[in-house]
Amino acid sequence: MTTHYPIRKSGPFRVAPNLADHDKARAAFQWADIERELDWLPNGGLNIAHEAIDRHVLRGNGQKVAMRWEGKNGEREDVTFEQFRRETNKFADVLRSLGVAKGERVFTFMERLPEIYHAVFGTLKAGCIAGPLFSAFGPDPVRDRLDYSGATVLVTQPELRKKVEHILPALPNLKHVIVVNKNGRSKEPLAKGDLDYDALMAKANQSFVPLTTSRDDYSIMHFTSGTTGKPKGAAHRHNSVIQQYATGKWCLDLHPDDIYWCTADPGWVTGTSYGMIAPWTNGVTQVIYEGGFSARKWYEIIQRYKVTVWYTAPTAIRMLMKSGAALPKSHDLSSLRFIASVGEPLNPEAVMWGLEAFGMGIHDNWWQTETGAIMIANYASMDIRPGSMGRPIPGVEVGIIDGKGNEVPTGEEGDLAVKAGWPSMFRTYWNDEERYRSRFLGDWYITGDRARKDKDGYFWFIGRADDVINSSGHLIGPFEVESVLIEHPAVAEAGVIGKPDPIAMEVVKAFVSLKDGHEPTEQLRHELMRFARSKLAAATAPREIEFVKSLPKTRSGKIMRRLLKARELGLPEGDTSTLEDD
Ligand code: AMP
Repeated sequence: MTTHYPIRKSGPFRVAPNLADHDKARAAFQWADIERELDWLPNGGLNIAHEAIDRHVLRGNGQKVAMRWEGKNGEREDVTFEQFRRETNKFADVLRSLGVAKGERVFTFMERLPEIYHAVFGTLKAGCIAGPLFSAFGPDPVRDRLDYSGATVLVTQPELRKKVEHILPALPNLKHVIVVNKNGRSKEPLAKGDLDYDALMAKANQSFVPLTTSRDDYSIMHFTSGTTGKPKGAAHRHNSVIQQYATGKWCLDLHPDDIYWCTADPGWVTGTSYGMIAPWTNGVTQVIYEGGFSARKWYEIIQRYKVTVWYTAPTAIRMLMKSGAALPKSHDLSSLRFIASVGEPLNPEAVMWGLEAFGMGIHDNWWQTETGAIMIANYASMDIRPGSMGRPIPGVEVGIIDGKGNEVPTGEEGDLAVKAGWPSMFRTYWNDEERYRSRFLGDWYITGDRARKDKDGYFWFIGRADDVINSSGHLIGPFEVESVLIEHPAVAEAGVIGKPDPIAMEVVKAFVSLKDGHEPTEQLRHELMRFARSKLAAATAPREIEFVKSLPKTRSGKIMRRLLKARELGLPEGDTSTLEDD
């Protein structure tokens, strides 16, 4: 008989009343128990799309609604698991008919339309690697990611295609651009050489037989930022579904009759692992809202669709807090049963505000692009410890270590690390195995975060170990922003840091030195802001630019962002002995 880790409050599962029982159950846990709940393909094959969609149809749940979509103009569409199965088969057949082979990278640059979900899961059924891009990106991040992954297919929408049209000819690997003109919203003709999504799908075979992939075949690639260089593509395998499915139950408390809403964009890892894979492998109905943030609209969505489980982010919660507790109280939000948050530290005030506004605390959990799924969580069956990320899930070992890979004493700060080998662990950074290897110290995968563990095994986030900026839960590599700024003819050098912000946690601040002959005027500052925004995305472009005569650098010429940040915050500047001589 399958045994379950007892961390659910409701349903046919035991509840562990205290931490000692949790630990006993943790020790007895084996991933094989979860693996048995999935539908493996012949010869031990595993495919995320099969587990998320076809499995439910085969088990007689084809008429259940998988997706309840609401467009930004108020359009509505429901998609059953059976329709979802057919649409994804068709998209896989489209790829086959275009000659796209197993392992090729198929990227989407789209808003949250039903078609992005059809394209991503169709890509997986065709044995290709899906790469969802954030729709708010400007041309430079899109070019870098398509180029770096060697993507051969791009699925996009007319208005987004327009935003990046000038970079497309410079991508030699890109063979096909497929355009989704949702409900004929665009009246412009298709650009020369582009393919019309609807026309391709109309001819495609809905009985396409999905490829049998293995658990080790690549599935999804998400880009993530480091301190140096451009963002790297963290490549995941179909095996990740095991942990995404399990954590959907354990950490989001998903039950078959839930109505679930994840507010993350599919361009970020939460939007795929928990905006696609976890809910649908658990067979739940998912609400998808195409539009952006608006407190009133969000409460309306919860009320209209009777959302029961809601997964969102601290910045969004802080923005909701700003709009007050009267607004949620003027809506019927009684359907809500469980709220979780990820992406940044969730401050205790936000956890407590959940009690005031929704009558329930907000469950923080921690993970990152490379981990592929939730690793640490405040579970449904344990008391929330406000301000803490929670405790590690069963089947993974998390530690706080020093620079030599030894665990530090309880309560002390160190590097947050995970013992390699969890099911949803990324397998490489695309074409950069060396960088991948550099993330490990012995058996430990080094997450890049600093944290501490308390005596009850709860983990507390302290900060990033590197210069990566976290703005509204989106990681931003300073190098990517600096590279864009120095493309401007007036800019000699740029150094970029994260400046603390009460809502977004951090915003991007740039220090810029100018080339001779350019004056640091207000007009130039605005021009630089506009310039950066047109190339990046509003969320990643600098919110503030400060002109400086020169930037502090190491003797080897590296900009000392640490020092820029210390100066910005009025903190001690630390060891400056490696600074260049003036
Ligand atoms: P990403 O890879 O873009 O998903 O970003 C992952 C990073 O976001 C982590 O390495 C942390 O720095 C931060 N992060 C994610 N979840 C949390 C959390 N619950 N508390 C604090 N920081 C978090």
